[in-house]
Amino acid sequence: MSEKQEIWTVLKVLTWTKGYLAQKGVENARLESEWLLCGVLDLDRVGLYLNFDKPLTEAELARLRGMVARRARREPLQYILGSQEFMGLEFAVTPAVLIPRHDTEVLVAEAVQRAADGSRILDIGVGSGCIAIALAKVLPRAEVMGVEASPEALALAEKNIEANAVRVTLFEGSLFEPFPTERFDLIVSNPPYIPTVDLESLQPEVRDFEPRQALDGGADGLDFYRLITPAAPSHLNPGGWLLFEVGIGQAAAVKGLLERTCVFTDIFTARDPSGIERVVG
Ligand code: GLN
Repeated sequence: MSEKQEIWTVLKVLTWTKGYLAQKGVENARLESEWLLCGVLDLDRVGLYLNFDKPLTEAELARLRGMVARRARREPLQYILGSQEFMGLEFAVTPAVLIPRHDTEVLVAEAVQRAADGSRILDIGVGSGCIAIALAKVLPRAEVMGVEASPEALALAEKNIEANAVRVTLFEGSLFEPFPTERFDLIVSNPPYIPTVDLESLQPEVRDFEPRQALDGGADGLDFYRLITPAAPSHLNPGGWLLFEVGIGQAAAVKGLLERTCVFTDIFTARDPSGIERVVG
């Protein structure tokens, strides 16, 4: 009697992958397994469900095995699939940039409310370009500029600008370095804000794979707010706004920094969907 050859259908592979990733400590293992299979088969999730009985080819299985092994080592799903959605737009991501977070959409929303037709906007630390690109999409007549210290991140942001068909001008450098005399109507930034001591206790996906340069905010996490805030007034037009994303529990300290410049009035904070104070401006 010959042994029956195993047929790896979509459903069977999905069930196996889910169990394996869950055992490796991956949260939402079922959903993530679906996304990995969607990536391999080039299907959306409905398409995946419609093909539960379809067997995978050897080549598809081999590709999936590679991806599952990476995810089992806790590499973020977004680096494996190479993209992340933000504000309904698609962004290419690599380990050179922070993966865009939905919490950062609050910063975009607050910026849009304070922008006018033709505003000059600067995003400090563009990373993947998600904030600057989303703003340029919503405000097509704004002049959006971005500055970034990492050449690898800049190259990826350029790619995202092109893929999203927007006009954003990028500059390589640190903070206001490329703009000694320029003024803007709106300055936004989601700077690195994790206190250095907390980096080691982050989840492995963040700790071991996302760029330190995008996370490390110095001893108390506030280094970049301390650098940007006093320099901002000389780079803002009258009535202009400086808006920051902040980490959990940092809103009061950053508000204090803005107050100490004695320039900013109407200082506000805005909460993210989980109720955490996420934006200060
Ligand atoms: N501006 C980018 C983002 O919000 C990068 C931020 C960062 O690297 N700290 O995703």
